[in-house]
Amino acid sequence: MLPKPLPIREIRVENDSTKTFILDGDLSARPGQFVMVWLPDVGEKPFSLAEAAPISLSIAAVGTLSVALHQLQVGDFIWVRGPLGHGYELPTASAQRVWLIGGGYGIAPLHFLAKQLLQAGHHVTVIMGGRTQANLMFEAAFAELGVPVYMTTEDGSAGLQGRVTVAMQQLLTEKPDMMYACGPTGMLVAIAQLGEAENIAFQLSWEAHMRCGIGLCGSCEAGAGWLTCLDGPVFNFNPL
Ligand SMILES: Cc1cc2nc3c(=O)[nH]c(=O)nc-3n(C[C@H](O)[C@H](O)[C@H](O)COP(=O)(O)OP(=O)(O)OC[C@H]3O[C@@H](n4cnc5c(N)ncnc54)[C@H](O)[C@@H]3O)c2cc1C
Repeated sequence: MLPKPLPIREIRVENDSTKTFILDGDLSARPGQFVMVWLPDVGEKPFSLAEAAPISLSIAAVGTLSVALHQLQVGDFIWVRGPLGHGYELPTASAQRVWLIGGGYGIAPLHFLAKQLLQAGHHVTVIMGGRTQANLMFEAAFAELGVPVYMTTEDGSAGLQGRVTVAMQQLLTEKPDMMYACGPTGMLVAIAQLGEAENIAFQLSWEAHMRCGIGLCGSCEAGAGWLTCLDGPVFNFNPL
């Protein structure tokens, strides 16, 4: 699968570090799947789909490739190959109560997932966390979907003070049937521990250093020989 050049149709500034790039192209993909994004002479890295049609990517400026992507303008090209990996599975039974838990830019693929869960008749609650209010995003997008949103910030500048687990503990009086999460490793580990302790099923999207994205190079191997690019990035267990 060769990278396909796609022009940027629109760029939305989400917060002080993250922009969403909407490309002129569609994919048939599940929430939780990712694409490899390449800029010639800069590099190639995986990014989760924030939407598949049109292809949308929410990218935080943290290093070489992501900062270069943030310098692009509408009409510039991004090279994309995908969709890749294993996405989130929707519940098979109807009217399931689900929590979507996102940290930082991890909230973006969960918005894509929320639309499909609502369409299938499930009850969605969103819990989003960040270090500070400026790290949160997609509040308005979830409000448009009409789902309850609980925010947490470590400095207390928005929502509850603390990490997402503070809101989860408060909401536990009505346990969900499934937790879906995407965000930093520490957050995912805490969710896996809570899921195991409270007997709640979970599906977590893990990050790893990826080079090929298609199971050949082995650079994203997680514990027990699992490849994050091929067997994940969404796992319904803790692969660490
Ligand atoms: C399956 C998958 C999906 C991903 N989806 C997204 C996505 O939707 N949006 C997105 O922005 N990124 C996503 N990433 C991360 C992305 O692939 C890159 O790793 C990230 O953009 C950093 O690459 P870089 O070249 O800009 O930085 P590099 O030059 O590789 O890193 C520069 C420095 O930043 C640090 N760093 C790397 N990532 C972060 C971070 N998140 N926060 C703080 N410091 C960091 C590195 O440790 C390094 O010290 C995903 C990764 C995976 C595996």
